[in-house]
Amino acid sequence: MESVNRNFSPEKQGLSTVAVHVGSEPDPSTGAVIPALSLSTTYKQKELGVFKYEYSRSNNPNRENFEKCIAAMERGKHGFAYASGSAATANIIASLEKGSHVISINDVYGGTYRYFTKICPQFDIDSEFIELVDPEALKAKLRKNTKLVWIESPTNPTLRVTDIKRISEIAHEYGVKVVVDNTFMSPAFQTPLELGADIVVHSVTKYINGHSDVVMGVAVTSCDIIAEKLRFLQNSIGAVPSPFDCYQAHRGLKTLVLRMKQHEKNALAIANVLAKSPYVESVNYPGLPSHPQHELSKRQMRGFGGMLSFYIKGDVNTSKKFLHSTKYFALAESLGGVESLAELPSLMTHGSVSAEDRQKLGITDTLIRMSCGIEDTEDLIEDVLQALENSQ
Ligand SMILES: *Cc1c(COP(=O)(O)O)cnc(C)c1O
Repeated sequence: MESVNRNFSPEKQGLSTVAVHVGSEPDPSTGAVIPALSLSTTYKQKELGVFKYEYSRSNNPNRENFEKCIAAMERGKHGFAYASGSAATANIIASLEKGSHVISINDVYGGTYRYFTKICPQFDIDSEFIELVDPEALKAKLRKNTKLVWIESPTNPTLRVTDIKRISEIAHEYGVKVVVDNTFMSPAFQTPLELGADIVVHSVTKYINGHSDVVMGVAVTSCDIIAEKLRFLQNSIGAVPSPFDCYQAHRGLKTLVLRMKQHEKNALAIANVLAKSPYVESVNYPGLPSHPQHELSKRQMRGFGGMLSFYIKGDVNTSKKFLHSTKYFALAESLGGVESLAELPSLMTHGSVSAEDRQKLGITDTLIRMSCGIEDTEDLIEDVLQALENSQ
């Protein structure tokens, strides 16, 4: 159902209101407050060619509800859901012409790096990875065939922050589109379309679903031309999520803003504890005044997020002892769930990055990444303090 009966205009509402109401119209046939799970793969047509839904790969009610909600959360017009964040990346790249050039921030998500370096060449798409902490560095790298700039901010795992507004201004001067992977911040804390980006992508698997039980992705844009291409590709490539995954992710999305506040509260508290510890070399967290882009972070984000990383004093064995000593922080990849997680990027999430590149990016064997969950702050602090003691 369209959101007409409440005269609802998402662009004027706060994000929590949008999260709860957009795409969640009570079912007109039963009055159910929560739209039902629609498992049907096909839909009876009123007359030949007259239908709301046709075939579930093309569209279905649960996916449409989720897409509406996430598009409104990102302050965009069109949302497209995919079977994973990686499928969202694949669909966006598939919208480029043969012979295109893509510029990516250098410490991009490992799977995105793999896609750009191993799969893009098969489609004659060239990619290049550059340092974008200084956005002006982009100018010298733009080529005639550059079609896309791909950024993440903050980056993973070193939490470097990129000026999305400035990157977008420069790219647009040259007719180049900007994609922001907004997985780390979520729309609760950052809405890149409002900063000038053309497309936002998410691994919904992380904060948006938020409960570590769905793998899914999404792309959002306000541009009708990009939307038309993405709609065609979403249906043609067919890497779509199931109605149940959409239902779950939509439910998760409703509490996103609340969860993000607690993720951030915990991350900030832990970052402060780590920064004061004699066992810690340094901490990467945009919310600390010591972060090199703290001022930029305050400008472009509404919060600093739940992710942090830190260098423990010692060597790889100290890191391992720390990771084996935590009670609540589970030693695991992924992020953004309600439960706290910790990992060693050099041997886990970023193990496929070459040793040379890891060195350049500061991904050493003593860099530990933490996804701070929504548990009680005091319990997490106590856990980190005891694990630091035990790591010695
Ligand atoms: C996990 C992740 C992805 C990939 O998403 P999947 O849902 O695992 O395919 C992309 N970007 C970032 C920043 C991620 O953390």
